Amino acid sequence: MVIYLDNAATTKPCDAAIKALNECLTENFGNPSSLHTLGLNAQKTVEKSRRSIASALGCDTSEVTFTSCATESTNTVLKGAALKYGKRKKKIITSSVEHSSVRECMKYLSENGFEIVYISPRKDGTFYAEDFINAADENTCLVSMMLVNNENGCILPVGKTFKALKRKYPEIICHCDAVQGFMKIPVKIRELSCDLLSLSAHKIYAPKGTGVMYIKKGIIIHPLLLGGGQENKQRSGTESVPLIAAFGAAVDFLAPIMKNNLEHYEKLRNHLTEKLSENENIKINYDKGVPYIMSISVKGIRSEIMLHTLEKSEIYVSSGSACSKGKSSGVLEEFGADALTADSTLRLSFSYETTTEMLDIFAEKLFEAQRTLSSVINKK
Ligand code: PLP
Repeated sequence: MVIYLDNAATTKPCDAAIKALNECLTENFGNPSSLHTLGLNAQKTVEKSRRSIASALGCDTSEVTFTSCATESTNTVLKGAALKYGKRKKKIITSSVEHSSVRECMKYLSENGFEIVYISPRKDGTFYAEDFINAADENTCLVSMMLVNNENGCILPVGKTFKALKRKYPEIICHCDAVQGFMKIPVKIRELSCDLLSLSAHKIYAPKGTGVMYIKKGIIIHPLLLGGGQENKQRSGTESVPLIAAFGAAVDFLAPIMKNNLEHYEKLRNHLTEKLSENENIKINYDKGVPYIMSISVKGIRSEIMLHTLEKSEIYVSSGSACSKGKSSGVLEEFGADALTADSTLRLSFSYETTTEMLDIFAEKLFEAQRTLSSVINKK
């Protein structure tokens, strides 16, 4: 049995997404910009997906723009917002644990005249809204905060921070990377109080290659891609109708089962936590976050070695964040992990298809690998 516990890296497309994708590859293959019926049908498909996503976010369809991935969304809105709203105000605030797509934009902006203020979690591993609010001032143009951290599942107080910031400094533009929260926990624009938001399809059981940027009505973002003026001139380039159709289908599939899924993840986390407590060499690094991402460390065993050992039993996990390809992003250290713990950390992330039986097999194989690898290391 394949036990895939790397759903924060990417997910297996659901049946509904594959069906929608296939329809667009075989029959509904027109270009949404074409004037004939095939074009019109393709355009209708794109608009249907846009409605599904707008309805899930609780926003207007005109505020949803399709991109190629969340990285593109984030690059467009962060650079675009800084360009438009940061002409005189040069301070940008973000968390110290953002995904590389935000981190690298911040690096770029800092090289282009902006002052970036990084807010860290406190000693208890929690982010506090006050820390962001206290860092803001009249010179702040932009704040970017992720909703759910991709390495340990920590939930950041986005709504509380953005609401307070907007009361004090109504002109600050607020962006949220909601990639690891969307369709798993409630993600509503009104509750987050954000102006900009990034989403990715492949984290929610749709294929890789499409994402969304939410841009609040009235906010002006200079597009990154110029050309044919598709997506209401926000993102030129022919829309990937098959991928967009699959994205919308995945949202429609998840919307009615989201609450049940969350309960399922709670059960899975509790089950695995109890199971792992049988082995004193295994530590859960963070237990206050979303129940579908767990960060654990195995004493003395480098994560990459453990990952490849588990792989031999068709068990797939991640070492830290998938995007960093084994390279430490420094995020776990930000949460207080020492270098040895960070180096022996595994990220486990569940899907609606994960079962307690799979987790039992995982725990059994993990314990076995820990014993074998420890004895090899101790003999050296
Ligand atoms: N933001 C977070 C929190 C992520 O986990 C990821 C992907 O791992 C991204 C952004 C980037 O998403 P995409 O692969 O669609 O560019």
